[in-house]
Formats: sequence, structure tokens, C-alpha cells
Amino acid sequence: MRPRPARLDRLPPQYFTVLLARVAAAARSGGDPLIDLGRGNPEVGPPPHVVERLAEVAGEQRAHGYPPFRGLPELRTAVAERYRTHYGVDLDPDTEVAILPGTKTALVELAMVLAERGSIVLLPDPGYPDYPSGVALAAARLEPLRLDPQRGWAPTWDEAPDEDIAAVYLNYPSNPCAVAAPSHAFTDAVRFAADTGAAIVHDFAYGDLVFDGRRPESFLATPGAKAHGVEMFSMSKSYGMAGWRLGFVVGNAEIVERIDLLQDHTRAGIFVAVQEAGIAALTGPQDSVDERRAAYERRRDRVLEALASTDVPPPVCEGTFYVWIRLPEGVTLERLLTEHRVAVAPGEGFGATGEGWARLSVAVTDEQLEVGLERLVRALS
Ligand code: PMP
Repeated sequence: MRPRPARLDRLPPQYFTVLLARVAAAARSGGDPLIDLGRGNPEVGPPPHVVERLAEVAGEQRAHGYPPFRGLPELRTAVAERYRTHYGVDLDPDTEVAILPGTKTALVELAMVLAERGSIVLLPDPGYPDYPSGVALAAARLEPLRLDPQRGWAPTWDEAPDEDIAAVYLNYPSNPCAVAAPSHAFTDAVRFAADTGAAIVHDFAYGDLVFDGRRPESFLATPGAKAHGVEMFSMSKSYGMAGWRLGFVVGNAEIVERIDLLQDHTRAGIFVAVQEAGIAALTGPQDSVDERRAAYERRRDRVLEALASTDVPPPVCEGTFYVWIRLPEGVTLERLLTEHRVAVAPGEGFGATGEGWARLSVAVTDEQLEVGLERLVRALS
């Protein structure tokens, strides 16, 4: 066989694969059972009516053939309706909603349809470690867009390179910084896009998980946003459906069409039962979303309370199911794993600006969180 194509060698190490392997090795090495606060994987699934709808449709003949490549029209309509009622955004379900098998897929597809080989994509730093993968596959050039901790992790637009920029990714509520969008972040993004011609990609994966009475804030509600960009919305966090693989790219019709075109050639739709269950989730009772948000908010409070007695500066946590903390000098993942039997996600994996920080996940049971916090408090004091 010939050597593998260079595009695979361009891929960075997959942060979470490496982290999971490291945590698993520590777990096997003996000692107390390890508590993993490093991984963000929803601990509670969707409400029963969603699972029932999946089972019901799976029993119908229509579920077994190829689904429509561009998704069920009723699902696109349900997404548009959700954007209207929850986020105050009008979307045309036929031209402004693309259906994807999860938004992780969107990260690769958006880089493919927005960036030419060698063109620049600005990625938030700190930011979600899967963003660079799509940029690498598209043979585009990654440049960090530093987020400023002094300004609620807002982008430092004035530090952006003065070159042609194909796309800018943003993500609020932020993984890993756990903040909601700072004021002006979206209007500044629209202005930047208008000035430079860059497309804006806003990752709204944690959109519904905001605390302290905040309202979810879609980038597309910003005047002018739809002319310059799209938003990714996911069923994974709002409904605990991470394993189902269902997500959306919504907004700018030209970008949505490009995604659909790419998918016409590379996919053959999504299992109809998953799409119908998605409709049930989006259009049915929303109590589970409120309960999930309340559970994460309550656990956020517990983490802040526990950390108050440590050397960690008081974290700001406005949403998501993470808490982003500044680590005291000398505290490393290795020490946390071996001496304290608790895992966190080290900050440097989220970009150079994450150095010296760590991400804790509260998407665990209350019992696991209590044991994990007891160990962390000991380690961080
Ligand atoms: N964006 C962010 C910020 C995420 O944290 C995740 C999942 N951890 C994703 C996108 C991907 O989500 P999914 O593919 O499940 O829609």
C-alpha cells in the first residue's frame, strides 16, 4: 500500500481520545475508583416520550428505506419553529435549515464549504478542541482568536491577522470557558464579517444551558447576522441525545445550501426514526430541558461553594455543564490522577490561552460530583 494521504497527517492529536486513554490507564492502575470530571457526556437521556417515538417509528415500514437526503421537511419546520419561539429568530425551513448527524460533523463540513486550501480560519482560544480537525482536513490555515478573560472571554478582534479570513468560529455559552456571550460579542462579530468578508460560524451547542435567569441568546438574533453566518444547534446537550447524532446548521441560505450539497454527495440522510424522535423532542413538552438546566445550575452552585475554601480564584460560570477554573501553581492532571484519583480536562488542550486552567464537568451524578469535589478540594487547597 502507498503511504497514507497527507490530509490524515495534518490532523492534530484528538484531545479527548488522548485524555480518555490517559484517564482509563490511571483507572486501571489500582487505587480508589477514579472520578472523571474531565468528560462532558450528558448523564441523563431524553424524556420517555422521545424514546417511545423512536421505537414507534422504527416499527414502521417507511423507516427502513433511504430517508430524504435533506431531512424530513417536518423536522426542518420544527427547528425553524423552535428558533422563532425560543430565540426570536425567523428561519425559512426550506432554505435556512440543514440537518446533520450531530454538530461535530458540521465542524468538518463547514470548514470544507467555507475555506479554500490555505485560507485562514480563526478559532477561539480557548476553544473546543475538535474545531482544528475540520480546518486541517480542509487544508485551511488555523489562526487563534484569543479570548480575553478580563472581558468575559470576549474575542480580541484587534489581534486578528490583517489577511484574508475565510471564517471565524465562535461559541457561547462557551466550552470550555462556561460563559454566556459577552455584550457586543455578536454585534462585533457581524461588524468584523461585514468589514472582512469572513463568514461567522456560531456554535450554539450549549445554547439552552444558561443560568441565573439568563435567556438563551442566538447569534442569529443579532441584526445582520444571517447575511454573514450560520449557527450550529445540537440535540445533544438540550435533550441529552448525544448518542443519537442529530444536529443542525441554520442561518445563511448560501452556506446551508453548500452544506446540503456536500451532504447530497457524502451521506444518505439520517434514520427517519431518529428524525421523528427529534421532532417529538423539539415540539413536545419542554420540562426536561428546564430540569436539566436546573440540575446543572444546582451542581454549578455546589462546585463554586466547594471551591471557595481552596486556592482557586472564584470561577465565573454562566452556563454549559462545565466550570472553568484557574489551577493553583504545581497542580497537574498527573498529580490529580495519581494522588487524588480525580480527572479534569487540562486547559492547554483548548489552546495556548488555556494554559494553567482546567475544565470540570458537572454532567455526572450528584454522588460522583460530591466525591470528586471532596478530592479536588483536598488537591487544590
Ligand atoms: N460543539 C461543542 C462546543 C461541543 O462541546 C460539542 C460536544 N461536546 C459539539 C460541538 C458536538 O456536539 P454534537 O456533535 O453532539 O452535536
